[in-house]
Amino acid sequence: MSKDNCKQTTCQENSYANEILDWMATEEYKEKNFAREALVINPSKACQPYGAMLCALGVDGCLPFVHGSQGCAAYFRACLSRHTREPIPLVSDSMTEDAAVFGGQANLVEGLRNAIATYKPSIIAMFSSCMAEVIGDDMKSFIANARTQGAVPEDFPIAYGNTPSFVGSHIIGYDNMLKGLLQSLADTRQGKWTNGRLYVVPGFDLYPGNLREYKRMITAMGIYMTMLPDPTEALDSPNTGEYKMYQPGTPMAELADALNASAFLFTQKYSTAGTQKFVKNVQKINSEAVTMPVGIRNTDEFLMTLHKMTGKSIPAELEAERGRAVDAATDAHQYIHGKRFALYGDPDLLLGVVGFLLEMGGIPVHIVCTNGNETFHKEMDRLLASSPFGTEGKVYLGKDLWHLRSLLMTDPVDMLIGDSHGKRLAKDAKIPLARIGFFLTDRVHLHRQPIIGYQGAINLVTMIANMFIDEYDRNCPDERFEVLR
Ligand code: SF4
Repeated sequence: MSKDNCKQTTCQENSYANEILDWMATEEYKEKNFAREALVINPSKACQPYGAMLCALGVDGCLPFVHGSQGCAAYFRACLSRHTREPIPLVSDSMTEDAAVFGGQANLVEGLRNAIATYKPSIIAMFSSCMAEVIGDDMKSFIANARTQGAVPEDFPIAYGNTPSFVGSHIIGYDNMLKGLLQSLADTRQGKWTNGRLYVVPGFDLYPGNLREYKRMITAMGIYMTMLPDPTEALDSPNTGEYKMYQPGTPMAELADALNASAFLFTQKYSTAGTQKFVKNVQKINSEAVTMPVGIRNTDEFLMTLHKMTGKSIPAELEAERGRAVDAATDAHQYIHGKRFALYGDPDLLLGVVGFLLEMGGIPVHIVCTNGNETFHKEMDRLLASSPFGTEGKVYLGKDLWHLRSLLMTDPVDMLIGDSHGKRLAKDAKIPLARIGFFLTDRVHLHRQPIIGYQGAINLVTMIANMFIDEYDRNCPDERFEVLR
């Protein structure tokens, strides 16, 4: 092919590609895209074991253990490492083709023996990948057999949770593992006696900054608490020059005593639904679940719930923080008020962030929740209906980021809010992406800064308002380019 021909072909190819791209931004393409049934493109979710791993990392001395394929374990470790930039301990019993045919018991027994001998954990939290669930492996009896065969000491604590990846998502896996930890390792409740502790369950939250903020606020109220699980240090450990496989988490003694809690507070509703039922309905423990405290109103509700549950008053320190958050929101409201947003992510996070946007006068338009359910849909609709800024908001359950692309192209917004997976959409739609959510793999340290509580509200206002100001500075005409904004 001659150079000229080549140029001509490239030119034709480019023009054809541009034609396709233009068509992909039309209502006609959107309709076809929304009619697709047999294909998912870039869903905003991970599989169940991923959530189970996070839960397991929050227990002191605990080794997360995947009963299933080695590749799955590598994927979970890599994904979390890329978000946190920390080494993540996780082992698997490396089931392969023969285990898929004959069952994974031999792998599980040998895996436990090796893991205990090599990595010397205090506890193992086991969960399953697709393969083990498809063939119906019974982890409970396999673990019992491992003890009988002497692969595991009789009294060595092992919890397990079934985490079939072909249903649900990482938030269900987190919930299943947490319930599994309580069912396997917590002592029986001692009648009406309590240990006087409030057990705070943060839910699927990959921001160590959030976890530290919960503990700071609750401790400031003088409440005697245990965070369960507590992966703060696993997600953000100090660099001391010495590798420690196990970072401090919820102490085993406090996990064992969990069912004697004076009460449980769940700061996410949808990633802990099964554990809430177990604690409240089965164990009859006083418990409350609040909307993730993102924004001022949700933080108020969180603190007032703590007050109601414990009788402790809200200290002046937190009142002053609230005042600073209101001040920050007021000073920056003009940059966010009236701006249109598209969001995607987990149900608990979306409820929190949409609540925050509404109180800033932002207009949530497209809300994509791949892993939300009908209860979430109704709750989000109620939230949107509670504000004059919520009238344009529409929830898309079970949809993915390719659906969201069509929405952005046919009904544009000013900003996209979500995790790093949305960066291509934001680029195509020529709008900024505010990186809020899980997983943040293409920016550094965002997970260290809280987005919950009053301090989190200040951080969100700062991030979003400054992104709009940056956009304006980049695109405004010369005569509008000012030092003052
Ligand atoms: S979906 Fe199944 S195969 Fe894929 S990583 Fe999750 S557990 Fe492994």
